[in-house]
Amino acid sequence: MTGAIELAGVTKTFGRIEALAPVDLVVEPGEIVTVLGPSGSGKTTLLRIVGGLDEPTAGTVTVAGASPHIARSAKRIGFVPQSPALLPWRTVAANARLLLDVNRSRPTAGPDPVDLLAEVGLAPFADAYPHELSGGMQQRVALVRAMALGAPLLLMDEPFAALDEITRTDMRHLLARLCEPLATTVLFVTHSIAESVFISDRVVVLSARPGRIVGVESVDLARPRHPSLEDDPAFFAVETRLRALLHEGAGR
Ligand code: ADP
Ligand code: MG
Repeated sequence: MTGAIELAGVTKTFGRIEALAPVDLVVEPGEIVTVLGPSGSGKTTLLRIVGGLDEPTAGTVTVAGASPHIARSAKRIGFVPQSPALLPWRTVAANARLLLDVNRSRPTAGPDPVDLLAEVGLAPFADAYPHELSGGMQQRVALVRAMALGAPLLLMDEPFAALDEITRTDMRHLLARLCEPLATTVLFVTHSIAESVFISDRVVVLSARPGRIVGVESVDLARPRHPSLEDDPAFFAVETRLRALLHEGAGR
């Protein structure tokens, strides 16, 4: 079986800065994998390479057997950026279907953005404009916009990093609820341990720069994951193992 994402010996240098040491990783179709690492460990660089937005310096990358560039051109990759980047002159509903309006020939029918907006609790705000929404609500629109594309691969770069702690916790619960029933492969990037555990099937821990994989932890916690899971000793146990890997990768 071809992996949804396959990285072999991927490195990246920017001038004299080595951002990524050789990275080898296979993500299976339908898997939810988080890349967890400190700031500057090359997480965004890795995600941009998988998304076909940047080229590796060495090594090979494929997305469902094709080059990331081809996968991106074929609209087979959805992207949720760190800041929601909504169009201020479009309503919430119009932002949510933005990618459908510009890509009339999408490869697979995705979920209806109207249904998705309702699912993330934004139905009453469909006709509002982005400036009328809180940060968390804006980020939910960005999530809907990406998911409505119906792409088999979703890439997310710290989409909740700018939110307050309470909203951020709600968002990871929402994301798990949205992604669990789907066959979509998700590669999620974060520096939050709790976020990585709650969402993922597997967590890949990156070292401090240059980012290399210090360890991979399987998260064998039952799904669907309920918010109360975060009070479960099994949840803490995974967090503790990840914290140890992060410390190891920081050279402490
Ligand atoms: P992270 O997302 O984990 O915080 P990044 O992938 O953004 O890390 O960056 C990893 C390293 O590569 C950092 O030291 C950063 O300064 C450097 N870097 C990233 N992008 C560029 C770029 N376009 N030009 C030069 N250096 C870069
Ligand atoms: Mg980053």
